[in-house]
Amino acid sequence: MSDEACAHIESINDVKQPERRECEECVKIGARWVHLRTCQTCDATLCCDSSPNRHATKHAHATEHPVIASAEPGERWLYCYPDDSFAEY
Ligand SMILES: [Zn+2]
Ligand SMILES: [Zn+2]
Ligand SMILES: [Zn+2]
Repeated sequence: MSDEACAHIESINDVKQPERRECEECVKIGARWVHLRTCQTCDATLCCDSSPNRHATKHAHATEHPVIASAEPGERWLYCYPDDSFAEY
C-alpha cells in the first residue's frame, strides 16, 4: 500500500474480487456498463463512472461503503470515496 492510502484502505487485508463479471444492478434493468468495481464492504460488483448508470458511486453514497476495488482483469487498485484516496496493491 502507498503512504497516501487512507485508513479505510489501510484496513483492507484481503481485496474482495468479483464473483461475476457483471454489474448486478445493470443486469436487473437490462443496461450496459463500461468497467466494473467491487465494493470492499459488501462484495457488490457494480459499474464505474464511465458507465451510464454509475452504480458503484450511487452504491457508495447510498450505503456509505467507502472503498471499491477495480474488478477489471489486470487492474489492482483500491479507491476510497470519502477520502478521495487511491492505492495500488
Ligand atoms: Zn478512506
Ligand atoms: Zn450498473
Ligand atoms: Zn457495498
